[in-house]
Amino acid sequence: MFCKIASGEVPAKKVYDDGKIIAFLDINPAGTLKGHTLVMPKEHRTGIEDCEADLLAAVMRAIKKIVPAVREVSGAEGINVLRNEGKAAGELVPHLHFHVIPRGGGDGIHFEENRRSAAEEELSKTAEEIKAKLKG
Ligand code: AMP
Repeated sequence: MFCKIASGEVPAKKVYDDGKIIAFLDINPAGTLKGHTLVMPKEHRTGIEDCEADLLAAVMRAIKKIVPAVREVSGAEGINVLRNEGKAAGELVPHLHFHVIPRGGGDGIHFEENRRSAAEEELSKTAEEIKAKLKG
């Protein structure tokens, strides 16, 4: 469905378009401040893993421009840049996109929930496992 926003078939409150990357307002903004924006490549990519590094870098370059604009318009004290990678992570629309969410005191958003303290052995073993994958 986001492909149709990219092509203009489905209307959206577009705030940015450089030909490759677009950004538009989320129709169901999180929190209480205005300006929750979605940033994505126009060409369909399912997620980070099937998106080539250059295109992902172009998304990040757009995010760099959009973050200060959203912060100024919303008056946010902070901004979350968020990607829900896969259904289990809360993804509803399977087209690579990042959320730019303006944050301020008392907005009711709590990403910090459900943290646990990890044993040192677990952290060491997990770090080794991930490092090994990165070398492969
Ligand atoms: P995600 O859960 O990361 O896939 O996020 C999808 C987001 O897209 C949600 O925050 C929705 O509110 C938003 N959304 C769905 N349809 C539209 C639309 N037509 N225009 C703008 N935002 C949309």
